[in-house]
This record gives sequence, structure tokens and C-alpha cells, in this order.
Amino acid sequence: MILRARTILSLTAPPIEDGAVFIEGNRVRSVMPWKNLRPHVNVKTCDLGEVILLPGLINAHCHLDYTDMAGQLPPPKTFVDWIGLITAAKSGWSYSDYARSWLHGAHQLLKTGTTTVADIEAMPDLLPEVWDATPLRIFSFLEMTGIRSKRPPKEVLAAALAQIDLLKHPRHRAMLSPHAPYSTLPELLRLTAKTANKRRWQTCIHVAESMEEFAMFQNAEGKMHDWLARNERDNSDCGLGSPVAHLARQKLLGENVLAIHVNCLARGDASLLGKNKTHVVHCPRSHDYFRHPKFEREKLVKAGVNLCLGTDSLATTRKVGKAKPELDMFAEMRALANSDKSISAEEILRMATVNGARALGLAGKAGELSKNAFADLIALPYTGKNSRAYDAVLAHTGNVTASMIAGRWVIPPQS
Ligand SMILES: [Zn+2]
Repeated sequence: MILRARTILSLTAPPIEDGAVFIEGNRVRSVMPWKNLRPHVNVKTCDLGEVILLPGLINAHCHLDYTDMAGQLPPPKTFVDWIGLITAAKSGWSYSDYARSWLHGAHQLLKTGTTTVADIEAMPDLLPEVWDATPLRIFSFLEMTGIRSKRPPKEVLAAALAQIDLLKHPRHRAMLSPHAPYSTLPELLRLTAKTANKRRWQTCIHVAESMEEFAMFQNAEGKMHDWLARNERDNSDCGLGSPVAHLARQKLLGENVLAIHVNCLARGDASLLGKNKTHVVHCPRSHDYFRHPKFEREKLVKAGVNLCLGTDSLATTRKVGKAKPELDMFAEMRALANSDKSISAEEILRMATVNGARALGLAGKAGELSKNAFADLIALPYTGKNSRAYDAVLAHTGNVTASMIAGRWVIPPQS
């Protein structure tokens, strides 16, 4: 199949005006200007017309199962207050509430141009059913904690691995996510790192999300430290350095690790992440919800860190006006552009495509339109010039006009 479009953003080369993408099966075979295309006999051409064609977006951090909490939790005073709010909200939910919510989230992402998502699964029992019900590519990271349940780290890991063994799907993958430094014991982080390295899995962890978490590890003090001490967490791992330094001590930094949030950095943390090739996922709307300290984007980029974008969950997204927020990577890209005037539209789109792919071990396979990449692509209405195409992507609101995953239309273009 050949797709023709007014503008193509391949992310590996400058924008192509009046371009063509040649697709064979589930892969891209070539991307070029329409006029360079040698006449192919018997190849179906689909002229998408006045659109920008670009790779499907990669959401590097999400909690699909919290989607229906959209707008329910008003921004709290402190992060620890929020943990109380979400714990209370979750206690009232049934299995089917979570399943419905997960599927609503997948649908919201699909219609707004995401084709691959790294999702944290608090309810992994849902997965066989919900995986079958979405065309998205899902990386499901099974959330592990163990503080409140007082389960030994070995047992927590064994239970997650037993669940992963039961999950097999041609398009989706299941892997491990220790929730955060404060909600786990160091042994669980070490065991996860070992397992992920041995099995060549990606893994992800929330880290240095709040000032309370930072104070807990850096200085063994503050609201989170004291609250967890009251809950009988063994806090002997606190007071030894920052949350990022804590991960380094447990050997949970590396090319296969996605560090989520990283809002609070100590001196040396950025270079620790950079040297260990750890990826960082920024979630702009969640960041704004909590009013965290400024995200240190430039410091991380300077240290050589690969930065990606995620939506996080709708439980941590502000309601703007009357409408409930929805999961939408375009809204995240715009939120980043609004909060950081020093970043270009092209860089932001790279965070939402190629960088996310790299973090998930999909470099050259997703997040770009190039030879042998997955035929995962989306189209947005556009009548402007090539030179404004990246800005137009950032300005796009609403649904995409077409979406293809693995060479199949999941949102067919209107003919
Ligand atoms: Zn999260």
C-alpha cells in the first residue's frame, strides 16, 4: 500500500512535501517525495490529501486503569495527602470498574494518536481480557510494592513473575515495575534489576516525584518519612542520599530503565542518570497538577539523558473548565511547550516519538517512519507550509483523522 500526504514528518529526515509512504505488510518499506516514486503496478494508493502524516505517538507512562478517576481528586496540598486520596478512591472500585476504566483510557489514547503505551498495571488480572480489546501496542509494567502488605520482596517478585508467565500476546508485553523507592524495600529493587537484565526486559519506576520523597531519602525526614515510619517501613535506607542515588545503590539504573518523573535532583543526579543511560519520563500535566519544582529538562539533556513524554493518569490531571480531562499526548506536548519556552516543537515531538521508542527498546522500530519500522502512523488535518508542520502538530486538538497500527487502519481515513 502507498499512502500519499501533503506533509510527511518521518522524524529521521526533514519534513517531506507531497510525500509517500510505501507499506508492505506491517512494516514501512520506504518514505520519499511522491514525485520520486517509480510507478508501481498493482499497489493500492491511498491519497490522504491535506494532512500531516507522522509516526504514532509513544506514551511512555500511563495508568490506564485510573482513567475514570478523571477530575475526581482535586489537587492536594502535599503528595502524601494525595496518596490518601487515591487509596480511598481505589477502595470503592470493583474489578469491573477498573476494567471499564482501563478500556476508556485505551480508547482515549487511540483516538488522540497514541499507538504505543507503557502502562503501569495495579490490576494485572484484567490484562488477558483488556489486551484483546485494544489495537494499541501495550507494554504492561506490573506494579510491585509490598510495604503495607509486609510481603517479603522475593514473594512480591515471584507473584509478579507468575502472572507474567501466564500473559502471552503477539502485540503486547508484560514486564516489572517496582512502584517507587518509598513504597518498596531496597531488596525488591535489586531483585528487579537482576531479573530485568537477565531477561532483557525494560523496567520502570516512579522516582524523585515529590519533595517529600526527596527529603525522605536525602535527609531521613519529612511528612513521607514519618508517615512510612508509622506504617512500620524499615527506613534504614533513608538519609543516605537522593532517591536517584538510592536507585544507583540498588543497581536499578541502566539502558533498560525508565525513571518516571525525576522532579527533584540532588547534585550529581543528572550525570548519574546520563552515565547509566537511564531514560527519564516527564509527565507535564501531572507535574502541573502537583505544582512540583521546575522540571530540570536542560540539566538532564546536558547530561545526555534521553527524555520521553507520558500522560501519567487522569487521577493527577487538572480539570480545565467543565469538561473532564482525557488522556491525550497532544495536550501533554502543549503543556510542556507552555511551561518551557526554551524547547522547540520538533524537540517536543521527538520526546513523544523517537525518544519514547528508544526507552522501550524500539529504536528504529517505532516512533519514526523509516525502512523496516512498524507501520504505526497517524494523520492530522493540515493545509500549511512544511516549515510550520512541527508547530501545527503541537497546536492540534481533538481526534486524529486516521491511525494505523502494524499496517492496519485502526481509525480509517474518511474517504
Ligand atoms: Zn505514574
